[in-house]
Amino acid sequence: MKALEEKIRNEGEVYPGNVLKVGSFLNHRIDVPFMCECGKEFHRLFDGCGVNKILTVEASGIAVAVLTAQYFGCPAVFAKKSKTSNIADDVYSAPVRSFTHNCVNQVMIEKKYLEPGDKVLIIDDFLAHGEALTGLVKIVEDAGAEVAGAGIVIEKAFQEGGKALRECGYRIESLARVASMDADSGEITFID
Ligand code: 5GP
Repeated sequence: MKALEEKIRNEGEVYPGNVLKVGSFLNHRIDVPFMCECGKEFHRLFDGCGVNKILTVEASGIAVAVLTAQYFGCPAVFAKKSKTSNIADDVYSAPVRSFTHNCVNQVMIEKKYLEPGDKVLIIDDFLAHGEALTGLVKIVEDAGAEVAGAGIVIEKAFQEGGKALRECGYRIESLARVASMDADSGEITFID
């Protein structure tokens, strides 16, 4: 999406450690009309694939997952990162190393929210090393459901997650693919 690349160039900030901050529209303040356009694009890409559930992981994937789900007319489910008293014991779970917090969370979803036969589109804000996506894929497959694919707003294509998951046969559609970014100059380039 050219408009997304423009927005990342204009509003994104590159931090040391290969971190891209897009707090102005995706990760802190949500630009709702713009994120709806991203949701529409995911719907266009995966329309006709029988998707009946959108899945993401808290927290920063939730906004785009919900805005995407409205175009599919289906529920959005998010994996929780910690076990709170209001979550049942009967869960699917997977360990996920957090890129931004450098810790491992056991992410979980109550079993009643994911059923065998579900066709699940995984949505996330970023794809870096593929930890979050791999954990969500495991949860979907543990539930006997099917992964229709994954829709990613920003893939950092110079990190290996996207390549590894595509090689495993998963369909990954990223709306912007960052080829390189430089924390000193702030320059960001994209793969067409
Ligand atoms: P992965 O699991 O693919 O290594 O990283 C993806 C997850 O880490 C995403 O859910 C996202 O929240 C976070 N993440 C990875 N890289 C970045 C980044 O450059 N900027 C931001 N804001 N989040 C990132």
